[in-house]
Parts: sequence; C-alpha cells; structure tokens
Amino acid sequence: MSPNAQLTSFGERVQGKNRTCTAADLPLSGPCDAVIDPRGVYVHVPFCAHKCHYCDFYSFVDARNRQPAFVERLIEEIQAAAAYLRGPLETIFFGGGTPTLLTVDLWEDLLEVLADHLPPRADGEFTVEANPETVTEPLLEVLVGAGVNRISIGAQSFRPTLLETLQRRHDPANVQRTVRLVVQAGVSNINIDLIFGIPGSTLADWLADLDEALSLEPTHLSCYGLMYEPNTPLTAKLRAGRIQRVDQDLEAAMYEATIDRLAAAGFEHYEISNWARPGYRCRHNMLYWTNQQWWPLGPSAAGHVAGIRWKNVARLSDYLRVQPLPPITNVERLDDDGRVGEELMLGLRLIEGIPLDRLDELLTDGRRGPVRAAAIDRHVSEGLLQRDDGSLRLTRCGLLLADIVLADLL
Ligand code: SF4
Repeated sequence: MSPNAQLTSFGERVQGKNRTCTAADLPLSGPCDAVIDPRGVYVHVPFCAHKCHYCDFYSFVDARNRQPAFVERLIEEIQAAAAYLRGPLETIFFGGGTPTLLTVDLWEDLLEVLADHLPPRADGEFTVEANPETVTEPLLEVLVGAGVNRISIGAQSFRPTLLETLQRRHDPANVQRTVRLVVQAGVSNINIDLIFGIPGSTLADWLADLDEALSLEPTHLSCYGLMYEPNTPLTAKLRAGRIQRVDQDLEAAMYEATIDRLAAAGFEHYEISNWARPGYRCRHNMLYWTNQQWWPLGPSAAGHVAGIRWKNVARLSDYLRVQPLPPITNVERLDDDGRVGEELMLGLRLIEGIPLDRLDELLTDGRRGPVRAAAIDRHVSEGLLQRDDGSLRLTRCGLLLADIVLADLL
C-alpha cells in the first residue's frame, strides 16, 4: 500500500463510524523514540466574545462556559503530544478565537502544564493573540511570567464606522490602552492586525489607519485585504446588495500605499501581507511559509509533521470526547509533485522569493516541471515575476495578482 493510499484510508476512518483516527495512528515516530522534530506548536482557542461578521475561523460565543472543560482537555492533549515532540520549542503560537478570553486561572493551569511538557526555548518566540477588550494587567502578568514575549493585537481598523461594518465590537481607544498595558508588562514585540478594503472605506481612511497603527510603535504589522468567506454574514450582506465591495483599483491603491508607507516607516515587507521592523519577522508564521514542521493543538488546529498535514476535528463536543489526542481530519501526505507545488507557492509568498538554485531543483523534481517552467517564463515576460539577486520573486505588480500567479505553479 502506498503512503497516500494508506492516508486516504486514515481520512475515511476519521469520518467512519467504527473507529476514530488520531495523530497516534499516523506514520509518525514516537512516543519514546521521538525522531520527529517540529519546531513549533499552534494552539487554537475557540472562544470569542462576539462573532465578527467576516470571520470564518472556528470560534463561537460560549454561553455555557465550556472554558474549564476545554482547558482540561487541552492539558491532556499537550501531555500526550509531548511524547512525540522534541523540545524545547522555537515557537509557540496561541491563536483563535480569542485566547485572551480565557480566565487568568485557566491560563495559569495551562501555562504550568505547557512549561512542564512543551517549554519554549529561552530564545524562542511565544505569541498570544489578543483582542483589545480582553487584555488586563493580571492576565499579562501571568502570560509574561510564563515566557510570552510577543502579543498580536486584532485592531483591524481605528474607524468606528468600519469596525461596525465588520461587526467588530471594540472601541478603537482600547487598542492604544492594550498596547500601553502590553509594553508596561515588558513585552515590546507587538503585532497589529489591520484589514483594508472594508466596504465604505476610502484611501484616506486606510492611510489614517496605518498612521494610527504606526503611532503605537509596533514591531510587526499584518495587513490583509478583506476576504468574503463563504457562509459569513458579511458575504450574505454582499449578496443581498446591502454592502458594496470596494472598487478593485481602490483596493490595489490601498495595498500599494501600504507598501510605500511602511517602507518609509522603516518596515521590511517580507511576505505578501506582512511587514516587520528588522529582526522582528514572525518566526512562527515563517515556519508555515518555509514549509517547516509544527504540531497542532486544540479544535480545528492544523499541523504539518513528518511530511503529513492534518487538522484536529473542529467541533468542540467532538474534540472533548476523544482522549488523549483528539480526532483528526483532512489528513494529507503530498506526493513529490505536490510538495514541489507547495514549496513554490509558499516560497513565492515571501518577498525574497526562492533562490534560483533551489528553483532549478524544484523544476527538475516535480512531474509538472516543464509546465511550471513555462508558467514562470510567461509570468516573467508579463512582468509579474522577476529573476534577480539570485532568486525568483513576485514583482510589485505580481504582488497585486499573487493569487493568480501562485495558482499557476501549484
Ligand atoms: S475576534 Fe477574531 S476569531 Fe473571533 S470572531 Fe472576530 S475575527 Fe473571528
């Protein structure tokens, strides 16, 4: 049986009635001879105070307070996963959802177990995503005491009307308050998430948002164009004609203005949607973009270990039910050609692109090498890709059409 056939059967079993598949069933090594070496873990916390209208992450408002049961279960998962991982970890990333919605007591329990079983490296990066309304001094004290050294704040916009359109229920003034608290707690590595292209926004609105974010002196900015995900209230409103997409040219102007404004402010544009002060690239996200290994924890968390990608089951009740490792789904091991496509697609998201010698290897390795080489030549001649400084990368024009270029190389 080929590995892929084997994995297909894993996938079927996940959905089957007779047996639930967990990461323990995958052809990974461990628990004792832990030869696998993921450099990071991603932990998904599924609770939010309110569901924003554009969001398709697995998160929900928990009226029944299932936080204690979730943390108890997550602790078991951490303990079980530790048997497979060689620590300490280079990166830990708590995302969601709203991790900072967990109570301080539960964070203390969680961080104690994490320190015992999956500790961060002394020089590691330990990020927690935070929503402005939920950050308090006692919580920060506990987080920083456990080694959290990077906070990622979901601001999205500083314009109340635009936040209203997204149904983001925070007061923009709370972003400033949060940054102040985070800095006072001793964390200087701060990311701010922003969204451009919100219906009703102008270029002036976006530039004002960028300036307000810059005035808070973050080390990192993630700036994404608004996505209309299927089955979200925002997309339903769009379909019903209750909101209008911003014009494509305006959205492109916003993106280009971001590149210029942040370059002038001393930020490196290092990934299509991410900018950092020198030395502050997000090391955890770099694991994703450089096709490294990380282990998923929590409902709906996705991971990549030993050439296999999988997702923990999303629904909290399913996640709580199976122990110690949760049920998994979307199990996939790419064949050689798939891996080449993936490396091209991920590598070209980085502004530095792919070194030409590595590109040559990739085009020789994959079954679709000649087709991909022709697509690359075409995009170079169209001015969307360029070969220079020893690498292949997206041009400024190519950054605007990245989805099209990257889809051709998969
Ligand atoms: S706070 Fe973040 S995860 Fe929660 S609903 Fe809003 S966008 Fe989604």
